[in-house]
Amino acid sequence: MYILLMGPPGAGKGTQAAKLVDRFSIPHISTGDMFRAAVKEGTPLGLKAKEFMDAGQLVPDSVTIGIVKERLAKADCQTGFILDGFPRTLEQAAALDSSLNELGIELERVVNITAPDDELVRRITGRRICKGCSATYHVVLNAPKVSGTCDKCGAELYQRADDQEATVAKRLEVYQDQTEPLITYYRDKGLYSEINGLQPIDKVLDDVVNSLRGDRA
Ligand code: ADP
Ligand code: AMP
Repeated sequence: MYILLMGPPGAGKGTQAAKLVDRFSIPHISTGDMFRAAVKEGTPLGLKAKEFMDAGQLVPDSVTIGIVKERLAKADCQTGFILDGFPRTLEQAAALDSSLNELGIELERVVNITAPDDELVRRITGRRICKGCSATYHVVLNAPKVSGTCDKCGAELYQRADDQEATVAKRLEVYQDQTEPLITYYRDKGLYSEINGLQPIDKVLDDVVNSLRGDRA
């Protein structure tokens, strides 16, 4: 099952991806997670990515396309994947097409999770991530049982540097300018489904799974 999750920052892509991994046992490939891991390790890629991430901008295509190409060629992607946060530009989408072509893989569905900007801001500014296992919470909307502590592994939760309100506005603007054109791109390919991300997490999951079965939005 080859799925692409689209949607503005904060719509719930990572939250849904974690549930889809449990259900379908396929890898979750998030370019945001890959960049955050590189930042944490202090690699040259991480140092480069950090300046763009902190400014709410996209990491250049020349960097991003390369890391995804490498990742998709790994053995665990040969039975499926959930791509989250890539592609984010038309150039990335074209590069993805050619990589998948080379690998003999066909995308099955592009699922766009949507929510209005005020809700996205509320979700992003309240988001907390586990330092240990990267599970995602929200201080109000999806709170852990013990404040500041991961339900799954007990590690401490933290707030992403780019989840401050000042950076969020820029990220939403970048999404509209550079990523929204992909909606037409995938609609024209007959792969596109749109899901109302304002619903409870499990209802969104039901809609995503139904869209994979062929129900079109
Ligand atoms: P994305 O990966 O699209 O940036 P996340 O999955 O990290 O978004 O979700 C953003 C925030 O919103 C997180 O704090 C998450 O717990 C919360 N969240 C995700 N989906 C929902 C939902 N359907 N209803 C309420 N809160 C949600
Ligand atoms: P995310 O975790 O998906 O919200 O991504 C966090 C940040 O990582 C983004 O704001 C970008 O700076 C960078 N990033 C993630 N994915 C991409 C991508 N496909 N292209 C460019 N930059 C990306």
